Amino acid sequence: MRNKSVITEANEIRLAVDLVKLGARLQLLEAETNLSRERLLKLYKEVKGESPPKGMLPFSTDWFMTWQPNIHASLFMAYYRFFQKHTQLKGLELIIKSYRMYVEQIERGSMDVVLSLTRAWTMVRFFDAKMLQMATCRECGGDFVTHAFDPTRGYVCGLCHMPARAGKTRRAAELALAAAEA
Ligand SMILES: [Zn+2]
Repeated sequence: MRNKSVITEANEIRLAVDLVKLGARLQLLEAETNLSRERLLKLYKEVKGESPPKGMLPFSTDWFMTWQPNIHASLFMAYYRFFQKHTQLKGLELIIKSYRMYVEQIERGSMDVVLSLTRAWTMVRFFDAKMLQMATCRECGGDFVTHAFDPTRGYVCGLCHMPARAGKTRRAAELALAAAEA
């Protein structure tokens, strides 16, 4: 029994370190591991070389509706739903796998990573709480993140109906989404 708890703690520490490297905030670490706050603070400082940012997690679903974040959030969800359907991954593992794929795809397209791991994790909780849903764009057929009670009929996504200044990143974003849905 003693060995088991040691192994479990080692695993938890490894998980926490991975999460910090991926950009997790302290609240995420506290929710997903059994390590004490003091232990997590120390780990965070060791990995990042600085204290974690203070303050609460972003709590609103609105951020995910703004133009650029919506495309990134939708790309992450494309991976999330794919791995949910085709693998045994669950919970945090599923989020981490999807997040790594999202980052890889964004970097391949030479775009900036807009969605942090903490935001992705928060978004999955919003989906679980039925505050968000996916809607299919009637123009391009892609699936995008929307508020749960918005009508999905006739939905047009941010790529098909976009601000003019965003033209430069459109092609890269389209390629990333197409790759994720392939
Ligand atoms: Zn569209």
